[in-house]
Amino acid sequence: MPDTTVAYSCPNCGGPLEMVPGQKKIVCPYCDTEFETAALEKLFAKKEEMAAEVEKAKEAKFDTDAAGKDWTEEEMEHLRTFTCSACGAELVCDENTMATECCYCGNPTMIPSRFTGMLKPDFILPFKKTKEEAMAALKKFYEGKFLLPSNFISRNRVEDIQAMYVPFWLFDSDVHASAQFRAESDNVINTPDEVITQTSIYDCHREGTMQFRNIPVDGSKKMNDQYMESLEPFDFSEMVPFTPGYMAGCLADKYDVDAEAAASRADERVHRTAVNELEDTVTGYTRCSLTDEAVVKDKGHASYALLPVWILTTRYQDKPYTFMMNGQTGEVVGFLPYDRQKSWMVLAVVTIVMLPIFYFLVSLFLNV
Ligand SMILES: [Zn+2]
Ligand SMILES: [Zn+2]
Repeated sequence: MPDTTVAYSCPNCGGPLEMVPGQKKIVCPYCDTEFETAALEKLFAKKEEMAAEVEKAKEAKFDTDAAGKDWTEEEMEHLRTFTCSACGAELVCDENTMATECCYCGNPTMIPSRFTGMLKPDFILPFKKTKEEAMAALKKFYEGKFLLPSNFISRNRVEDIQAMYVPFWLFDSDVHASAQFRAESDNVINTPDEVITQTSIYDCHREGTMQFRNIPVDGSKKMNDQYMESLEPFDFSEMVPFTPGYMAGCLADKYDVDAEAAASRADERVHRTAVNELEDTVTGYTRCSLTDEAVVKDKGHASYALLPVWILTTRYQDKPYTFMMNGQTGEVVGFLPYDRQKSWMVLAVVTIVMLPIFYFLVSLFLNV
């Protein structure tokens, strides 16, 4: 082969293509797809550019060192840590507050110790829902649940609901996102003998800059992610700089996932959202699929915030059942145990009621 040929692979089947400069069109010898040389050159130039962007994206990290501050000696003296002897949850509160039971597993043995090992939050979202409102929401949640075991309710634990701040890492990021899509349009031609489907394939490139603010990633392994997502969203516009005064009467969950570990989850979320935004602009085709993508962070900053949740965990037959309410918006989530005996009773009643109707219908049918 002369030096002037450039080797490319066919975008359709991956087979090797040999292009001679000066040729306007080229047909793949393997799949017979026809390409315009100029378009093909552009496509491969873009591919190289994208590969460089992907490398750049790997380099760009969130500035997580800036998240959280140091407590003063005096502030630390007024804080206590309570550790659950059953599940290991660590809750922090001020000296006037007692953690009498574990919010996560309902265990009543909490071991107090000196406060240590937690950064001072940058921000806090104060509680807007009062204890009365949380209790009312919990009562309503129980109400009318026929299959609830009687001794689960009779223990009347509504008053034990606790105000807890959940640790969150909040990520801000400015990104440059680019993506390649393979879009296809079908043109169906009906002739008397056959139906011909002609498919035109387009290489679509999209790119743009996007800003993300306060992407929340919870810093607690104990906190059920599904529960937390059900409680979202929080309105971060009401967030204020943290002062220890907000801790009065509340528990704060000590984070066990640090900012650096949480950053990958924020990155994933930014990446997914950015690429979806770009994909939404590829319209007017029969099909579209993503072939290449790169999301580069120009700026990435993290902060540490406490978000308000009302929480109560009740044990029943050795299993914890948790009820939670978003302390800002009042959104609730929870699971309840059900009484097997009661559910059998319901089935029996339904069967007793339905059986004569069933026989009646069968007899009608047989008489016809
Ligand atoms: Zn081919
Ligand atoms: Zn526990």
